Amino acid sequence: MSTVKCESVGIVGAGIQGVCIGLQLLKRNIKTTIFDNQDPGTGRNMASYGNAGHFSPYAVLQLNRPDVLYDVPKMIFSTNGPLALRWNYMHKMIPWILGYLKNCNKKSMLHTAKYMHQILDHSLSAYDEIFEEIDTTNLLEKKGILYVWTNQNLKSRKLEIKVRNDLGVKQKILTVKEILELEPNLKPVFSGGVYFDYAYHARDPVGILKKLFDLYIKKGGIFKKENVNSVNQSTLNKTIIKTDNAEYNFEKSVIACGAFSKKFTEQLGEKIPLDTERGYHVHFEGMDKLISRPIIFLDRGFGMTPMNQGLRAVGTVELGGLKNPLSKKRIKYIVNCAKELLPQLEEYKDEWLGFRPTLPDFLPVLGPSKNNKNIIYAFGHHHLGWTLGAMTGKIISGIISGEKTNLDLSPYSSSRFG
Ligand SMILES: Cc1cc2nc3c(=O)[nH]c(=O)nc-3n(C[C@H](O)[C@H](O)[C@H](O)COP(=O)(O)OP(=O)(O)OC[C@H]3O[C@@H](n4cnc5c(N)ncnc54)[C@H](O)[C@@H]3O)c2cc1C
Repeated sequence: MSTVKCESVGIVGAGIQGVCIGLQLLKRNIKTTIFDNQDPGTGRNMASYGNAGHFSPYAVLQLNRPDVLYDVPKMIFSTNGPLALRWNYMHKMIPWILGYLKNCNKKSMLHTAKYMHQILDHSLSAYDEIFEEIDTTNLLEKKGILYVWTNQNLKSRKLEIKVRNDLGVKQKILTVKEILELEPNLKPVFSGGVYFDYAYHARDPVGILKKLFDLYIKKGGIFKKENVNSVNQSTLNKTIIKTDNAEYNFEKSVIACGAFSKKFTEQLGEKIPLDTERGYHVHFEGMDKLISRPIIFLDRGFGMTPMNQGLRAVGTVELGGLKNPLSKKRIKYIVNCAKELLPQLEEYKDEWLGFRPTLPDFLPVLGPSKNNKNIIYAFGHHHLGWTLGAMTGKIISGIISGEKTNLDLSPYSSSRFG
């Protein structure tokens, strides 16, 4: 492996991307400092805190699809559907929406699927490597992930199955009877499903994040709990991270603050149409034993994951930026969806809103900034950032160390936005 020596790296963001990048840099003996304005795992609206916990290497198809676009008008005007808009934010989302429309065709959909598959395919083995170093007892459960659907959007289901088949993604199509054999408590309001038996889930995403962060500190990583205001490159080998308190110099810097990364790319003069797909969760305490594995109801755009905190009902997409408050209607929606599949559910707690970082073509941005080669981007992992944390760590540390890779990284470059 031929590498270039990098002396020091500063990372902005201690979500799953930032911590996994930090761990991989330490492996390469690079002095690393992570900045976050909150202690890792306590930032309530960090996406890595409240996600559905799926490790889903099969999820190659995203929402930039002609069939989904066809359903969008119907979904927007329904108050009781998987997609919601906050109208007061729509004017700010125009660049993202235009980009999304441009990418909602068969060719772009297949491009996204191909290049999501390229990195998703290594996502579990990348985690295996770092999970060897922490105790994951009670944090991981390996029982597969199950999707169910009604016959209403069968055309979309058939498309998903075909694209996954074409890419060689393993999947098992199940009948209602087979689904109920796996999950006998479900009310059979669905007509079929698909099972990914090799996928698995976190019983406590924050618990895992904290353990990985502790490992990072144990291995000599530095953490600064400070709010970052800017990241700049001053000379060829010098980048500056400015916080509320001080200025820090590093040879290279990484921007890994998920949906909050846009402020920094704008300061660097790059127009990257990053925005957020807001998502929600609640917990039904003590109800996690009702199901054995995550179940996603595709018609409703929602899922349930058995976790240590209880049964987590999670999902929906709300377009509304970072500042709008939590919507009680969205909470009610996921609670009702959960009760549709498990009518025995009653009280819930822990209403949570989080921000998926999403580009209009549903590919992350991984690689150097266009004009500042020592500032590296690692954000935009949308619905799959939890799955892709360890792999992102490998890719970004490889870029920083100048390692050769067999992956084609060009589709993830920020230069695709001009
Ligand atoms: C409802 C929901 C369900 C999901 N389910 C899944 C799933 O099942 N599987 C999956 O793979 N993915 C899932 N995701 C997506 C996944 O959670 C995200 O893609 C991923 O967590 C993003 O990680 P990140 O490290 O990029 O960002 P984050 O986890 O958001 O971390 C960003 C960090 O940057 C910090 N930060 C921001 N601005 C500053 C600043 N100025 N100074 C210092 N620090 C700053 C924040 O405090 C935060 O800690 C889900 C997301 C949501 C919302």
